[in-house]
Amino acid sequence: MKIFIRKRKKITSFILTVILLTFLVSNLGYAQIYTAKSELEVGQTYHGFKLIEEKNLKDIESIGRIFYHEKSGAKLLQIENEDENKNFSISFRTPVDNNKGIPHILEHVILNGGSEKYPVRQLFFEIMKGSLTTFLNGMTYPDRTTYPFSSMNDTEFSNLMDVYLNVVFKPSFYKDEKFFKTDGWHYKIEDKDAPLEYNGVVYNEMKGALSSPDSQLYSYIMRSLYPDTNYRYISGGDPAEIPNLTFKELKDFYDKYYHPSNSYIYIYGKLDILDKLEFINENYLKDYNKIKVDSKPGIQKPFKDKKELTVEYPILEEDLEKDKTFISLNYALDGKPDMETTLTFGLLSQIVFNNPASPVVQNLNKAGFNNISSVYFSNSAQPFISIVAQNTNENMKDKFEDVIYSSLRDIVDKGIDKTLIKSTLNNMELDQRQQYSRDAMTGLLYGELAMLSWLYDGNPLDGMDIDGALSKLKVALDEPYFENLIEKHILKNNHSSVVIVKPKKGLMEEKSKAVAEKLEKYKASLSDKEIEKLIIDYKELQEWNGTPNSEEILNTIPTLSIKDLEPKIEKIPTKEKKENGIRTLHHPLFTNGVGFLNLYFDASTVKQEQIPYISLLSQILGKVSTEKYNYTQLPIEEAMYTGGIQYSATVVTKQGSNDIYYPKFTVSSYATEENISKMLEIMAEEMANSNFDDKERLKQLISNIKSNMENQLSSGPINIGIIRNLSYFSPVYKYNDLLLGLSYYDFIVDLDKNFDNKYKEIVKNLEEVKNTLLNRKNMLISFTGEQKEYNVFRKNIPTLLKVIGDKDLNSQKYNFDFDNKNEAFSSTMDILYNFQTFDFTKHGYNYSGKMKVLNNILQSDYLFNEIRIKGGAYGALFGIIDESNIFLGSYRDPNLKQTYDVYKGAIDYLKNFNMSEKDFEKQIISSLAEYYIPTSNMAKGQTADYYYLSGITEEDLNKELEEILNTKPEDIKKFAELFEKGLKENHILTIGNEKVIKDNKNLFNSINSLVK
Ligand SMILES: [Zn+2]
Repeated sequence: MKIFIRKRKKITSFILTVILLTFLVSNLGYAQIYTAKSELEVGQTYHGFKLIEEKNLKDIESIGRIFYHEKSGAKLLQIENEDENKNFSISFRTPVDNNKGIPHILEHVILNGGSEKYPVRQLFFEIMKGSLTTFLNGMTYPDRTTYPFSSMNDTEFSNLMDVYLNVVFKPSFYKDEKFFKTDGWHYKIEDKDAPLEYNGVVYNEMKGALSSPDSQLYSYIMRSLYPDTNYRYISGGDPAEIPNLTFKELKDFYDKYYHPSNSYIYIYGKLDILDKLEFINENYLKDYNKIKVDSKPGIQKPFKDKKELTVEYPILEEDLEKDKTFISLNYALDGKPDMETTLTFGLLSQIVFNNPASPVVQNLNKAGFNNISSVYFSNSAQPFISIVAQNTNENMKDKFEDVIYSSLRDIVDKGIDKTLIKSTLNNMELDQRQQYSRDAMTGLLYGELAMLSWLYDGNPLDGMDIDGALSKLKVALDEPYFENLIEKHILKNNHSSVVIVKPKKGLMEEKSKAVAEKLEKYKASLSDKEIEKLIIDYKELQEWNGTPNSEEILNTIPTLSIKDLEPKIEKIPTKEKKENGIRTLHHPLFTNGVGFLNLYFDASTVKQEQIPYISLLSQILGKVSTEKYNYTQLPIEEAMYTGGIQYSATVVTKQGSNDIYYPKFTVSSYATEENISKMLEIMAEEMANSNFDDKERLKQLISNIKSNMENQLSSGPINIGIIRNLSYFSPVYKYNDLLLGLSYYDFIVDLDKNFDNKYKEIVKNLEEVKNTLLNRKNMLISFTGEQKEYNVFRKNIPTLLKVIGDKDLNSQKYNFDFDNKNEAFSSTMDILYNFQTFDFTKHGYNYSGKMKVLNNILQSDYLFNEIRIKGGAYGALFGIIDESNIFLGSYRDPNLKQTYDVYKGAIDYLKNFNMSEKDFEKQIISSLAEYYIPTSNMAKGQTADYYYLSGITEEDLNKELEEILNTKPEDIKKFAELFEKGLKENHILTIGNEKVIKDNKNLFNSINSLVK
């Protein structure tokens, strides 16, 4: 399935990042020395910036330079290389001392409030309307706020650098409290008899962000480990405390921390650094004098004894409390969050806690903990490592600790299995080989790595020394390196905590009642006149937000011109051939000695009642024992020789149709040339010889699938909601819903609940489906890599074919009924997700590139203003899917009926559509953004496969591009009629707040709880 939600992130978000292991690697051993384009001398000053250090970073084929601006005290890091996708960011250390969400709300008002030179309201979103950026955002971390963007376009890069520096140093938000009210919080009251309510973008964003227990868990862990420091607070804001924030506090915080002396500037990619230094100095930094800013995050004194924290999260009245508790065991590390620590502990967590071959995991499983995960968290002055058990019960706490201790004691005494370490290291090295092929996120990620040391006064270039960090790790193959770390940082570390997050019925009602009572009391304390004032304030805020920026003000934003752009369709080389009688696509692209393999099996031969088993099979292969390997050995084998073997169930659609689609079962992996034959051997072993009849293992896997789906459902059910909504009328999405949507969830819940009765049936179905799927008559091979790797692959194809059947099977005819219309799914989320969809081909419309422009306009202009700015929701969505369907959506939305009315309002908006020529040009430019996103060669191969399978030709792509470029305002107006017809079908679906759903129950045919 391909949902055209744009690849870049559109919304300013609060991110609690965990740096993943795979981001940390580069092309060790294959690097070329990058030579500097400009010659600079260490110790010299350039435009006020003294060059402190210059370093050749051969791991990432770059040169790193650290500068210091002597007058203002600003720090600047440059990573110079050949990457055309340049990145800029400015960060400030912003430690918090309460839960009012100050840095987060500040991040919003800074980007949305405009600045001295760009006094545009909703500046961030206005920029986005006309931009080709490959990344644009603002991010709040527990101790810093970062403003990053990336662009391939030189003019845009320079323009936006000025915009970002202007907003952070000369913002306008403090001139008008309405910015704070809109994005932070305000009172909502429409008439004197209505109840008083809180509203605001961040207020609702955080209600959504903290709605699932696993997202709350990490803030509780930090509170438990760092009780005397800033890290005990939620920098994003706790909805219960956000309304205590005043405008003055917000301004004071800004004045304290947003000074060049407290700033970290990062510049990445292929550009002229002297030109940038001059610009920054002349326009900004030369006017500031260095000051002392006290922003260093506090360090917690180690504990004498382990601490314990128990907290509750809400579940619905009809839910069961059993098996819904989270227990985590956490250790604050004695060490800096630099590259070496990050790599080491990332790896340790991988080897010891996230690998089924680890004795710790095996012992935990035996003791009844089926769902274990571990995270190393590096975004704080003191990093920590956590081991989390999900789906357990409070009385299991002691057992959890005991098993972990005794197992760790045991592996420290006996030593960790070296093959476990070696395979994990091999896997990392393989990932490094792919770093030659930079993608849209590379520059941004290096900036994040630099911050690991830089923010805590370390050397930012340490973060780039992957080579050094890795070679240190290699001693682990000969010495008890990880064993010593476990001894020191875990077994003998008292700076630790146990956090229990357990379910409680009625908690949500309690909380909302408390808020309602507080507001009621406040309202009762007000005179009629004061209430009148609140109503007027709210109306004024709505009006103010409904007034667009004037033409003159909008013209302050530097924009690109369509004339300067030459968007092109990139041709991906594809040779179609037959190998051993099998249809094969070869994409001859440079891959640094790695071969990428995708096998596509036609899944339309699977019987209708077995469709969900295709998904289940994809989630089970590689995780159960085979004839040759135990399931604990398989991940080691995979990691030793391949980049992992992935199985997935997907649907390729014929564009422009809801009836024609091609279900696929896909097997993917990659390996270096010398390991390609081994990769095929392991693949063949897993596909042919997996045993599904290990009852305990199967039970455990199904239970894990269930809880993973539940985490996904409670944290952001956007895709699942859209799939379900489309399944009201579309056979494609009916199928998708069975494969990965709510119907699949129901299927898994049923298997989990009735496992013992159904066990034999499950095994039988898995076998049958596997034998139907893995058939050479149904098979397409795709290989991405140069001829040399291809030849090796070609020679080894028989290994694979030996285990694949050769039967004549027919495609099945599926008969779906379409009767689950207009559903609501209630959950303990405080906010709502509202979706509406329709099929435009049914109303006589064919897809055209003009719809991409329509997509941008409706989302960024109409829906954004009505749903986010006026409605207070965190986000609004609009999309065209499979060239046949349209969806509208809102998320983290406080409203329900009001939002569906906004959707209806799109008809009038389009009828009266009116936009200046310049604004319209901007919409066309941002519709072209996806033609400028750099992708890796591996991803290119997969895109070409997708085009091949769905029948999209180069001609189609060129036609679409032409249509985008030739879109006129009249074309947009004409869509009013389509919306009139489509919205009348009234296919709606809502997920979220139980009470609001019940208040609107007449809109729905059924109301069920989201999580079973
Ligand atoms: Zn936010």
